[in-house]
Amino acid sequence: MNEVKDMSLAPSGRDKIDWVKSYMPILNAIRERFEKEKPLSGKTIVTSIHLEAKTAYLAQVLAAGGARVVSTGCNPLSTQDDVAAALAESGVEVHARHGVNDEEYTALLKNSLAACPDLIIDDGGDLIHLLHGECREYGKKLIGGCEETTTGIHRLKTREKAGLLDWPMIDVNDADCKHLFDNRYGTGQSTLDGIMNPTNLIIAGKTVVVAGYGWCGKGLAMRAKGMGAVVIVTEIDPVKAIEATMDGFTVMPMDEAAKVGDLFVTLTGCRDVITGRHFAVMKDGALLANSGHFDVEINKEDLAAAAEEVWQRKPHITGYRMKDGRVLNLLAEGRLVNLAAGNGHPAEIMDMSFGIQALSLLYLARHGSHLKPGVYQVPRDIDQAVASVKLSAMGIRLDSLTEEQTAYMNSVE
Ligand code: NAD
Ligand code: SAH
Repeated sequence: MNEVKDMSLAPSGRDKIDWVKSYMPILNAIRERFEKEKPLSGKTIVTSIHLEAKTAYLAQVLAAGGARVVSTGCNPLSTQDDVAAALAESGVEVHARHGVNDEEYTALLKNSLAACPDLIIDDGGDLIHLLHGECREYGKKLIGGCEETTTGIHRLKTREKAGLLDWPMIDVNDADCKHLFDNRYGTGQSTLDGIMNPTNLIIAGKTVVVAGYGWCGKGLAMRAKGMGAVVIVTEIDPVKAIEATMDGFTVMPMDEAAKVGDLFVTLTGCRDVITGRHFAVMKDGALLANSGHFDVEINKEDLAAAAEEVWQRKPHITGYRMKDGRVLNLLAEGRLVNLAAGNGHPAEIMDMSFGIQALSLLYLARHGSHLKPGVYQVPRDIDQAVASVKLSAMGIRLDSLTEEQTAYMNSVE
C-alpha cells in the first residue's frame, strides 16, 4: 500500500516527470532497451533517493525493465508530494512524504524494505544501515546495491574496513560520469538555485564562504565567482587548499571567514563546520546554508542556544535573533539547500548519474550473486557507454585513433 500525502496531487507531478523526460536521453535509451528485453523481470528493487521528478523517472525506467519497484526518499525535506503521487499512480509502490520528522522518515524506509528487495539504490547509506541492523530480516534475498553519494561511500568503506559489510555495493559516486558532472556542475548550479529561490537576493558583490573544496565545493566556488561573488574557501586538506588558491580563491580558517562572509555554504560531509564561536562573530543578516550531507555541518543546537528569538521568516528561511540584536538566517533547516529549497540538480545532469545507476543495477542483477561483500567500482564500459550517449545527445563528435596511432601509443620504443 502506498504512503503518499495526497493522490489528488498527481496531475502536477505527472507534468513534472513529463518535462524532465524530454531532457534525459540516456534514460530514454535505457528505457527502450529495458522495455524490449525486460532484464529485471522477477527482481524487487527498493530505491531511496530524493523523490523528485528525475528520480521518479528512474523508478519508472526500472519498472519498464520488468522489476517490481518500491520508492522512498532519502531526506525528510526533499520529497515532492505531487511527484510521489504521480509515481504511485504509475504503478510504482511509494512510501514518501515531504516534511516528515526523523522517526516518520525511518518508518517510511522500513516500510519500503519490507518488500524484501533483491537490489537497492541508496543515497547516503540509510537503507544499507537498516539492512545491517533493525531490518536484517528484509535482506534475506538481497543480492546487493548501488550507492549514489560521497558520504554514503564513506560510510560503506568504513563498514567494509571493519568487516561489517555483508553485501556487494557498487560505488556509483566515483564513476567519472557521476562525480565529475553531478557533484561539480550539478551542485554548483543547484545550490545557488536553492539559495536564490527563497531569498530572492543577489549573489554579485556578496562574500561567499565555501566550506570544503572537494568536487561539490569546486563547482559552487566556480559558479559563485562567475556570478560576481568574492569567494573564500575553507579547507582541512593542504592539497585542496593549494588547489583553491591556484584557482584564484582566498583560503582562510572558518574562524576568520566567519567575520567577513555574507553567505556561508558547507559542502564537506563533516560535522560542526560552523559552530557557536563562528555565529558569535558573524555579520548581521548573514545567510547560512548546507549543501553537503546531514543537517550537522551547521551546528543548529549552537545557533538556537545563541538566539533569543527564532522565527520562520519565509518558507525555507529561519531567522535567529542573537542576544546582541544581529539576525542570522538559516536556510532549509540546515538540510541540503538545493533539494529542500529547490529541485536539485538539473535533468541533464541526473540523466548521467541515473544512467550509471540503471546500468550498474543491471550489472548487479546479472553478476551480483558471484560477488563477495565489498565496495566495487562501476565497470569502465558502463561509464564509457553513458558518456557516448550523452555526447551524441549533445551533438558532439570525437576523433578516434587510427591503427598507426594505436600502435604508436602501445609501443614500448
Ligand atoms: P569530497 O570528498 O570531494 O570533498 C569534501 C571536501 O571537504 C574535502 O576536500 C575535505 O577535505 C573537505 N572537508 C572535510 N571536512 C572539512 C571541514 N571540517 N572544514 C573544511 N573542509 C572540510 O566530497 P564531495 O563529492 O565534494 O561531497 C561533499 C558532500 O556533499 C558529501 O557529503 C556528499 O555526500 C554531498 N553531496 C551533495 C550533493 C548535493 O546535491 N547537494 C551532491 C553530491 C554530493
Ligand atoms: N540522505 C542524504 C543524501 C545526500 S544527497 C541527505 O539528504 O543528506 C546527495 C546526492 O543527491 C548527490 O549525490 C546527487 O546525485 C543527488 N541529487 C542531487 N540532485 C538530485 C535530484 N534532482 N534528484 C535526485 N537526486 C539528486
